[in-house]
Amino acid sequence: MRIGILIVAGLAVMLSTPFASGRGEAGTPVDDQRLLHAESEPDQWMMVGRDYSEKRFSPLAQINRENVRRLGLAWFFATGSRRGLEATPLVVDGNLYTTNTWSRVYALDAASGELLWSYDPQVPRRWGAYACCDVVNRGVAAWQGKIYLGTLDGRLIALDAATGRPLWSVLTVPQDRPYTITAAPRVVHGKVIIGNGGAEYPGVRGYISAYDANDGHLVWRFYTVPGPEPGAQAPVMVNAARTWSGLGWQAAGGGGTVWSDLAYDPELNLIYFGTGNPSPWNSRARNPDGKDNLFTASIVALDADTGVYRWHFQTTPDDAWDYDAGQNLVLADLDLNAKRRRVVMQANKNGFFYVLDRETGQFLSGRAFVDQNWAKGLDPKTGRPIVAGLPYAANGKFVSPSPLGGHNWQPMAFNPQTGLVYIPANEAPFLYQAEGSFPLSPSHWYTGLNLAAESAPTGIDPLLLRAVIERGVAGQLIAWDPIEQKTGWRVRQPSPWNGGVLTTAAGLVFQGTADGRFVAYDAQDGKLLWQQHLPNGIIAAPMTYTIGGRQHVAVMMGWGGSFGLAAGEAAKVKERDYAGYLLVYALDGRASLPSSRPTSRSIPGLPKIVAGNQALADGNRLYNQHCAVCHGANAISSSALPDLRYMAPETHRRFEQIVRSGTLSKRGMVGFADVLSTEEVQDIHAYLIKRAEITRAAERQPRWWAQTKVFLYGLIAPLLYRLQALRFS
Ligand code: CA
Repeated sequence: MRIGILIVAGLAVMLSTPFASGRGEAGTPVDDQRLLHAESEPDQWMMVGRDYSEKRFSPLAQINRENVRRLGLAWFFATGSRRGLEATPLVVDGNLYTTNTWSRVYALDAASGELLWSYDPQVPRRWGAYACCDVVNRGVAAWQGKIYLGTLDGRLIALDAATGRPLWSVLTVPQDRPYTITAAPRVVHGKVIIGNGGAEYPGVRGYISAYDANDGHLVWRFYTVPGPEPGAQAPVMVNAARTWSGLGWQAAGGGGTVWSDLAYDPELNLIYFGTGNPSPWNSRARNPDGKDNLFTASIVALDADTGVYRWHFQTTPDDAWDYDAGQNLVLADLDLNAKRRRVVMQANKNGFFYVLDRETGQFLSGRAFVDQNWAKGLDPKTGRPIVAGLPYAANGKFVSPSPLGGHNWQPMAFNPQTGLVYIPANEAPFLYQAEGSFPLSPSHWYTGLNLAAESAPTGIDPLLLRAVIERGVAGQLIAWDPIEQKTGWRVRQPSPWNGGVLTTAAGLVFQGTADGRFVAYDAQDGKLLWQQHLPNGIIAAPMTYTIGGRQHVAVMMGWGGSFGLAAGEAAKVKERDYAGYLLVYALDGRASLPSSRPTSRSIPGLPKIVAGNQALADGNRLYNQHCAVCHGANAISSSALPDLRYMAPETHRRFEQIVRSGTLSKRGMVGFADVLSTEEVQDIHAYLIKRAEITRAAERQPRWWAQTKVFLYGLIAPLLYRLQALRFS
């Protein structure tokens, strides 16, 4: 009798969690065949882009246009992190795998959210100074009972998918250079493919590597820019070397890093990836003769088995704008001019949407999907941009798109049913101005760009600053027709830097936003069908899976990343101290997040300082050049990194030691003695104290007066913004 009950109970468990044993539908773990035919397993999400074509299109349709309004939180998982969360989770045979900041991994029960195991690679916190764009991670890969992780400090680690135990670990980058990994690895035919980032720092030369997925030995490596090693003699590299001029780029490493997603075509056996900006950004400091600088800012195709070069298409020759081509590449078959074409598509940072033949790299079409003024257009035959002039004039120039990109790493999605690509787009013109001299220091940005050019006057009223900035930046979700190269529909959003996109066979588009909403749109016309307000912003892309017969939609909530760190007053995150969560939704979900407790902050006692206008102006310039990329523009932090206006008295006392000697480097605040003198640090300190005094005065003003000012500033902000744009046009 008891045995009978046990058998029945066991059967019930097996039926309700069909893949709980870690085996797939065919009774096999994730292998090449399952990855190659991912579209035939709609309930799973086995790769960050769902399948090798990276469409982020799910065949699931249980949640549809009619019932999506019943969507609710089924469960959630607290990451404890207050920085950017960028991962797309995987769901494999009942388990969900996702990552946190600092390259930490979690395996959760995909039905209940119960934590099965976690793994922390213990990334040294000082490595955070090498991460241009926050200590983020975009996810893992799964294959043959293993989970593959790239760590911020450049290791590639294989974990046992059942226990989280590390099986092997290899170092993929030199440890004396500021390389980082934030991308999810991909597994293709038993090889783990991984690149790296760092082209904002000196000494970084981009490459992509393939490691044996069983034991981690290096199978092949492809450098994206020329260099001294024997491989440089390959004809393709000899030709690439002819596209560089001067010597400045060699100290800088050349850049061209492969820091984001890649796609794979099994029929052609080609992998496709985009490369980052050449280094430094300032083109004439790097490239006096204005040559193309291959293979930076390019889309490149390699043979997946050997890493041998097959073709490239350079989106931005002689890039001077930080127009990395790292945005996700989507493979599709489109009918162009009555002919079926195998294409690769990208919504590039430079604002143009490209359709290329993925067999040959031939340019098929391209058109701007956002406002842009850096190019007069594309050559209709070659796709080469007709550049409207270099941006580094002495006075500077307002250019669109900015280094934020018309589109950045937040993945777009393609729905074959609507024929539309859904692009999370940014609008944020940027003032490009050359920096006279820039120090070569491994833990500091090395761009040749005056990052302080746009800084606000030290004494500006914070409310006016917000009004002007809000006038200048925004976001859009654009549904783009890649055949006609035109907009299908678009939704305006109050902030740039919104989340990646998921689309489904039920005609839905899911996206999280910078201002803390998770939204479902109608894929056909952009109609808002459902949304939930959240205490934190979203930059990650959602995914969907079925377990126990129930479709779920999952997304990481946690605003941050590059714009998240630097945005300052432009940030729309509602509760700055609210931690990041994995949110998992299903129809009739009833869970609710812990209520937010907004912490009220006040500025503690400030040291008295005597600083002249020149010292304050110098402090303003130096802060916005060296500190703002992490602590926020104009001394306003939008993330969990300390807002320096609110420093404790003890921090004020130790300010110079912290900034120059790096006494907090174990917590990620490295020393700046190699780039800042004692006097310069004092100027920055004086600037911060002044900004704190102004903020304190603003916080103490009566509410009615603040509201009146917000109204008046709203009236004059467009004019101020226009004047600013005219001054630098
Ligand atoms: Ca870049």
